[in-house]
Amino acid sequence: MCDIIIMDVIFVNKYICTNRNKNYQEEVEKILVSNKQEILDFFNVEDNGQFNFNIYIYDTIDDLACGMKNRGFDSMPDYMCACYKDEDNSLNFFEPKDNPNENEWSKEEYKNVVFHEEIHAIQGIIYGRQPEWLTEGVAKYLDGTYSKGLKYLLDEYVNKIDIPPMHELIYEFGMHEYDSYDYAYLMVSYLIETLGNDDFLIEIKSEETIKKLSEDLVTKAVDYYNEKLINIDIKRR
Ligand SMILES: [Zn+2]
Repeated sequence: MCDIIIMDVIFVNKYICTNRNKNYQEEVEKILVSNKQEILDFFNVEDNGQFNFNIYIYDTIDDLACGMKNRGFDSMPDYMCACYKDEDNSLNFFEPKDNPNENEWSKEEYKNVVFHEEIHAIQGIIYGRQPEWLTEGVAKYLDGTYSKGLKYLLDEYVNKIDIPPMHELIYEFGMHEYDSYDYAYLMVSYLIETLGNDDFLIEIKSEETIKKLSEDLVTKAVDYYNEKLINIDIKRR
């Protein structure tokens, strides 16, 4: 016989929830707590209590969109399934169904969404507002989305179409047919690899240096990895 030890979850974040299962809040808290150190290590910061958030959990994805609107955030794109809002220091989620269909989020898949938003929240506290290519690039760099690697990304997606212009990635992120996140990931990977993590963290502190870094960045990043990983001439228009 073994003893059953029931561990109470101690909440460090504040929860404002209208979802159906109380234990889903505990699950979200566990995901946030267990991933936190990895994110803090990346940004090389210590936790002095400044990285605790207001966590909203809605019952469905529609309730999330509706709830955000009621709280004054009405520009949620329809592909969005969670978000971080610096205005009220909140992370906003919904509770996925226990038996989702293939087009819906499962609780297992959603774990990574929680992690992804936590990266945004911590980066937001440290640096304030930054361009989307940079915040999405860092979140994708850390969250494991591109675990198949850069060569796969280049072969299967990036090298099959023209490189988008940098100004689109700066001013119209996510608004085009191509996947802006692919390029965000490539650009941030390139910067971290060529600058080193320490200098990368310094360079992204100011708007001015970010502007400098972003000059022709997408082409530089794609060319760099093609040169490094594939070594072929890519014919471009
Ligand atoms: Zn994101």
